Amino acid sequence: MTGPEIKGWCPGALRPMQSGDGLVVRIRPFNGRLRRAQADGIATLAAAHGNGMIDLSSRGNLQIRGVTEKSYPPLIEGLRRMALLDPDEAVESRRNILLTPFWQTGGETETLGPALTAAVSAEDAPVTPGKFGYAVDTGREPVLQNASADIRLERDAGGGLILIADGSDKGKAVTVETAADEAIALAHWFMENRGDHTRMAGLLAEGAKLPADHFVPRQQQSHRPAPGYTPLGAMIGLAFGQLTVETLASLAKQGGLRMTPWRMLLVEGAREFPGVEGVITDPNDPLLRIVACTGAPRCAQGLVETRPLARQLAPHLKDGQFLHVSGCAKGCAHPRPASLTVTATTEGLDLIRDGRASDAPEQTGLTPQEIPETL
Ligand code: SF4
Repeated sequence: MTGPEIKGWCPGALRPMQSGDGLVVRIRPFNGRLRRAQADGIATLAAAHGNGMIDLSSRGNLQIRGVTEKSYPPLIEGLRRMALLDPDEAVESRRNILLTPFWQTGGETETLGPALTAAVSAEDAPVTPGKFGYAVDTGREPVLQNASADIRLERDAGGGLILIADGSDKGKAVTVETAADEAIALAHWFMENRGDHTRMAGLLAEGAKLPADHFVPRQQQSHRPAPGYTPLGAMIGLAFGQLTVETLASLAKQGGLRMTPWRMLLVEGAREFPGVEGVITDPNDPLLRIVACTGAPRCAQGLVETRPLARQLAPHLKDGQFLHVSGCAKGCAHPRPASLTVTATTEGLDLIRDGRASDAPEQTGLTPQEIPETL
């Protein structure tokens, strides 16, 4: 049996990825936000040029699925007309920026996002590894500490801006004016010191010493994302981060959309939950505690239809359990340990406790019907 194929880069819109259901075209909304017209336009384009399914990725990007070689050019042209594309592949790949969805109009985050975007898009910006990214997490308290990023902007306990190398519990004091340049300087530091490392935390874990001015203590995140009302609008969940073009078009009628890495969207200005099919509004819905990759047949390497299996298992999940259903040992949807992981193999389903999809299983060769008794 051959292992899963590992790709060392992230797909984009300008660099789509072939999958079991065609090309995946990943849109990186600028500053983590889509205007209503953009969200509606993406729904229209995805209906015309994809298979009607859209993913919200764990980095807050939208993926149009089921695109063909023939439908790709008009799709890209449509995205370009809506100002949703970078000038070229290289800039698209570097512009890997997560923004707190809770930014306020007129606040500093609204300035920092575009400033960092401009800085990583500059011709002389460091060409970082494919999955390397940035988080602008500059609300009063951090909310993105569990999301993937290598260079972070946060606030210290006194409200001052700090720049953090992921993996460190201290940061460097910066200002709104210097933050973007300092982030780029830190990216240069990483590139000069990284050796074989592709991620900041790995480099620091090996003992690399940050510059001496990284001494300001970070705040610990207490925020737990959940569907509900916020002063900015309604946060809604999406099972497996998936939505249909109809759902996206309906949400676009409610307001602008802010992306999150939590399989949730913040619908700006919505004062009641949108009565839209396919959205999770109950913060206790067990589907919020399940991640499932694309799986078969949409992923060529998938050995099981992961999402129907996940829906089947959802009612059996106990309080506090977190389930990862993986179509193969690659574990794309959740590269970290989960309290429970079900991994499809050619010999059936493996059950892994407190581990990753590729870790040693507690039980092997299970059928979907046998799984609930093991949870
Ligand atoms: S983990 Fe899922 S999405 Fe990733 S390669 Fe395996 S089947 Fe495909």
